Amino acid sequence: MSLPPHPDRAQAQARPGGPRRRPPREVEVVDVRPLTPRMVAVVFAGESLADFAEPAPTAHIKLFLPDTEGNVPRPVVGLDGRLEWPEGRPTMRTYTPRRFDAEAGTLEVWFVLHGDGPAARWAAQAQPGCRAAIGGPGGRFSVDPTAALWWIGGDESALPAIATLLEALPDDITGQVHLEVEDADARIALPTHAGVEVTWHHRRSEPGTALVDVLRQATLRSDTHIWVACEASAVRKARSSILTNQVLPRFQLTTRGYWRVGEVNHPDHDYGED
Ligand SMILES: Cc1cc2nc3c(=O)[nH]c(=O)nc-3n(C[C@H](O)[C@H](O)[C@H](O)COP(=O)(O)OP(=O)(O)OC[C@H]3O[C@@H](n4cnc5c(N)ncnc54)[C@H](O)[C@@H]3O)c2cc1C
Repeated sequence: MSLPPHPDRAQAQARPGGPRRRPPREVEVVDVRPLTPRMVAVVFAGESLADFAEPAPTAHIKLFLPDTEGNVPRPVVGLDGRLEWPEGRPTMRTYTPRRFDAEAGTLEVWFVLHGDGPAARWAAQAQPGCRAAIGGPGGRFSVDPTAALWWIGGDESALPAIATLLEALPDDITGQVHLEVEDADARIALPTHAGVEVTWHHRRSEPGTALVDVLRQATLRSDTHIWVACEASAVRKARSSILTNQVLPRFQLTTRGYWRVGEVNHPDHDYGED
């Protein structure tokens, strides 16, 4: 498959001075695989992915959705180096690069089909040939090589990030992964790790409540490294429960609000610290 080279790339590189925003990469869907009734894997390809940086574990990308006619948004680079959208700002959402295959030039993304947003609706109907654009990857989380004990938690939106984390953890660590999903049908096969026990919890009421309850009841060792991502209100409860009930240094704690009930396009930099 061959997509046209991006018109603004050379221009962006040549422009002197000012911050230079790289235009998003134009990509095409080459495969769609249902993972569960509530999650679909979409595989993108395109020559533009040739210099896509190997994403760090739990990294994120920006997905720029096509317009109603399937056209990919094309920015121009303004005089200040920022991207301008002559045809109007496209709809953009944050996702995890689940798997980047540099050799094949493909990028796989897992979408929760929660039903109520443009990205979820786009993913539910995506098929080979559909086009979109991708910015990033961003996010510099790195696995502390001295961390031997892990507690990892997340909801469905964090399953792709947790899968990347499981692949990045050294073989000799031990840990627990707690996942909150809608029901038994929403469980997926995650990368296995000999030292990590995975427990699935089914959503009972407000999103994230089951996860927060597990954390409240946990007694964690002071050397535990924690990574939690889920609905933004729940992530705040999780963080406060850890800081209230557990004795561990803050640098061992990573929390991320990935979406918020009732909010459109929750930001990608919600650390749940407020
Ligand atoms: C760093 C980062 C990585 C992420 N990675 C992924 C990923 O790999 N896969 C993934 O599916 N999501 C991921 N998310 C979450 C995703 O960005 C949001 O779910 C996003 O809001 C989806 O856009 P939308 O257009 O479908 O819904 P929006 O238009 O943003 O929201 C519309 C409505 O849907 C609700 N909603 C949004 N997301 C969910 C949800 N997951 N469950 C239930 N209701 C929801 C909102 O509360 C709102 O009422 C990530 C978020 C961040 C910050």
